[in-house]
Amino acid sequence: MSEVKLEDIVSLCKRRGFVFQASEIYGGLAGFWDYGPLGVEIINKIKATWWSAMVTESDNIFGVDGAIIQNPKLWEASGHVAGFTDPLVDCKNCGARHRADHLAGTDSTNLEELTELLKDKACPTCGKKTLTEPRTYNMMMKTWVGPIEDDSTVAYLRPETAGSIFTNYENVRETMRAKLPFGIAQIGKAFRNEISARDFIFRVRELEQMEMQYFINPKDSEKVYEDWRAFAWTFLVDRLGISEKNLQWHEHAENERAHYAAAAHDIYFNFPFGSKELWGTHNRTDFDLTSHSKASKKELSYFEESTKERFTPYVIESSVGVGRMFLAVLADAYFEEEKDGEKRIVLKLSSELAPYRFAVSPLLKNKPELAEKAREVYAACKKKYGNVMWDDNGNIGKRYRRQDEIGTPKCVVIDFQTLEDNTVTVRDRDTTEQVRVSIDDLISK
Ligand code: ATP
Repeated sequence: MSEVKLEDIVSLCKRRGFVFQASEIYGGLAGFWDYGPLGVEIINKIKATWWSAMVTESDNIFGVDGAIIQNPKLWEASGHVAGFTDPLVDCKNCGARHRADHLAGTDSTNLEELTELLKDKACPTCGKKTLTEPRTYNMMMKTWVGPIEDDSTVAYLRPETAGSIFTNYENVRETMRAKLPFGIAQIGKAFRNEISARDFIFRVRELEQMEMQYFINPKDSEKVYEDWRAFAWTFLVDRLGISEKNLQWHEHAENERAHYAAAAHDIYFNFPFGSKELWGTHNRTDFDLTSHSKASKKELSYFEESTKERFTPYVIESSVGVGRMFLAVLADAYFEEEKDGEKRIVLKLSSELAPYRFAVSPLLKNKPELAEKAREVYAACKKKYGNVMWDDNGNIGKRYRRQDEIGTPKCVVIDFQTLEDNTVTVRDRDTTEQVRVSIDDLISK
């Protein structure tokens, strides 16, 4: 378990504008969150980094951006209408609802096993032994398309982005003249009516996913699966700067795996509430294309010219939640430490992910000549780097603390010496050391 407390992260997120409760002035809504000015900066950078590594830097992975609402037949064929369920128990005394597998402390979702494990369990809310037997509950959110609200117009908000990747497999293959292996990637919102939304932004009802489905010849599946496991780990460590000591592999046991999956490995992160799933890599076999081909009566097999073989491609899936990645980045970067005899909170974010790269300040607020010069430096830095913040509130020590808390790597301060020799002090967030740098060097780096 991480040493960081969840309440400290929640408090920082609210205090500094990373994350707010959705519709907070009306009391919020469980499982829904809004990203604030600083949060959205990090979220956008996480998504851009993933998109770059996955799509832009690759030769054979193509992006799509599918609709959130699709023909409901898609979710019948994918198995979600019948089987996108979680086991649930109700308390007959207080009416609370709980995830049966979480309450039983198991990864299994088998109802018989859960009934056995929960036999003598009390309701964690009221303490009474009045729980019902576990039953399954469908997590897809429903709506109606058009003006008539009846069974014939029911549609679902997508529970995962993968659906429209499979239905566009043939469109992408044809339009991009793609040969196997190739992948389709997508970033987008998905909705899950989770029984109990909890742990801040970890388990939410409106989530955003980054998913990639890689279509391959079945004979290559073991090697390709290992490559995508390695991709996920390397991305977290090298591209986001997450410490390896906070990551572990978790291999799905057979009773935990989706029925069609031949293999599934998750990367777990040491969240403040325990080591939990962050990123999944799955071998989905030919389940998806076979099911969609059967249900839609469209041919989705592939003809391999070199061997004259026809087969239905296997799919290796890489799937991760944006919000969970954001929470992992924050928890990994959050430190409370003593520096120069003072306590401080610092977010040791990489400069690629920090909301601001620099904060620029005049040493003293009430000296017009300093403020004027500082504004000049601010404008030049902003032109060069974009994400630069102006900060002239409070004394300089307080400004440093404020910038440490939001992860700004460097604070640039304009003082009287600047007016003489065009140099500024640049203070480093992690070491707190200050060096004098010429303005030209600062903006030409
Ligand atoms: P869990 O076991 O935590 O419910 P899952 O195994 O159902 O997750 P997948 O269906 O494989 O998850 O979804 C892929 C990724 O989407 C997960 O690894 C996670 O990062 C993210 N994710 C899934 N459900 C949620 C949720 N309710 N809130 C936030 N992120 C989620």
